[in-house]
Amino acid sequence: AVRVRFAPSPTGMFHVGGARSALYNWAVARQSGGTFVLRIEDTDAARNKPEWIDGIVNALSAIGINESDPAFEGPYFQSHNADRHREAAGQLRAAGKAYFCDCTREQVQERTGSQQLGYDGFCRERGLDWEAGRAMRFRTPDEGETVVVDLIRGEPAFPNSAIEDFVIARGDGTPVFLLANVVDDLDEGVTQVIRGEEHLSNTPKQQLLWEALGAQPPVWAHLPVIVNEKRQKLSKRRDKVALEDYLAEGFLPEAMVNYLMLLGWAPGDDREILPFEELQQLFRVENVNSSSAFFDIKKLTAFNGDYIRALGAEQFAAACAPWLAAPHAPWQPEAFDAAVFEKVAPLAQTRIAVLSEITAQVDFLFLDEPVADEASWAKAMKAGAAELLRDVRAVLATAAWTAEDLKTVLEKVGAEHGLKLGKAQAPIRVAVTGRTVGLPLFESMELLGRDRVLARLDAAAE
Ligand code: GLU
Repeated sequence: AVRVRFAPSPTGMFHVGGARSALYNWAVARQSGGTFVLRIEDTDAARNKPEWIDGIVNALSAIGINESDPAFEGPYFQSHNADRHREAAGQLRAAGKAYFCDCTREQVQERTGSQQLGYDGFCRERGLDWEAGRAMRFRTPDEGETVVVDLIRGEPAFPNSAIEDFVIARGDGTPVFLLANVVDDLDEGVTQVIRGEEHLSNTPKQQLLWEALGAQPPVWAHLPVIVNEKRQKLSKRRDKVALEDYLAEGFLPEAMVNYLMLLGWAPGDDREILPFEELQQLFRVENVNSSSAFFDIKKLTAFNGDYIRALGAEQFAAACAPWLAAPHAPWQPEAFDAAVFEKVAPLAQTRIAVLSEITAQVDFLFLDEPVADEASWAKAMKAGAAELLRDVRAVLATAAWTAEDLKTVLEKVGAEHGLKLGKAQAPIRVAVTGRTVGLPLFESMELLGRDRVLARLDAAAE
């Protein structure tokens, strides 16, 4: 049976690249009735924090990867398998496939006369025993080549002579990541390793370790790097990379999943917006691109807008709820009127691409005074605007109060000022809502009610 794994190191927020790797593994496990193992690689005590672990587990769960599905196994913790890592190192040593070494870097450099070359194998035949400070090195073959089967990159071959005798346990006896990672994969019965391209250089070494431990190496797949619009590798210092941040900003998990699945892979027809159930069936690691994948926030945002528009009324209201309350909402909690929101919700739903935008769409309905954005104000309040506001106000004081009547009034007064409806609307809209774009104006005015509209027109005409 297929067994894949996702093996994050909890050293920070959960990177969208990690989320993509997790989803690809998840798709492979689910489509084949296989298993997805979550393994937390938590052996770097100095850089790991428990909150990062929770962050990863929760973010994975938010995108549907959790124990409620039988394909999910774990989480396992690398730190809990430390005895096995030592045992494996001992096993390699006992078999003559690893040896202790007391060379310092300076000594190696002096002998090889170079900074570039790796270890020269000086201690191979010395038969040193362990002593504090002596590292254990893996004895790599001198001849031949190591060919890794990579489902995305073909079968890259690495000449063994170029693979130095690398360290597998440090001077304090603790096995290094390269070995721990292999031993865990082996113990967890992993059959396919699907991971980021940055690990490709480790792969020949790791495959040699698999073989030396007497096991059948997995099939590998190294996913292309993800780059920003400047074609730079996405980095947490430069770019917004945390899945948690996107979710917190009002990107829907389903939209994130859909977009991330397409970062380096496509279902092969024109369709892009597809539920995970379908993507999962169509996904083939073999069809993942080997060239870098562009993380296009504009496209992600457009996807998210599509997903928002597809929500039912109740789902939409539920998704918006956090944005209509503190700390996001600028109005007093008691000013919020659910019935009013329900009326405008379908109008707002077509106008936002990220849930956080809902607050600005509807704030004028619940604030005493609209948020006055100076740029909009200046743009709309051209010469003659004050007179128009006053004339409109005078008619509205007694006009019938439906959206349709309001429109008729504005058309008429606008015409008297030589303005088409579109032009006449701009100052009214800014006066009433604080913004130049937003919900349909006349429906908004109807909902706001005569008193508030007149007060805002008065305030704006001053
Ligand atoms: N813990 C490694 C990382 O987060 C993953 C290594 C692997 O997938 O083999 O980069």
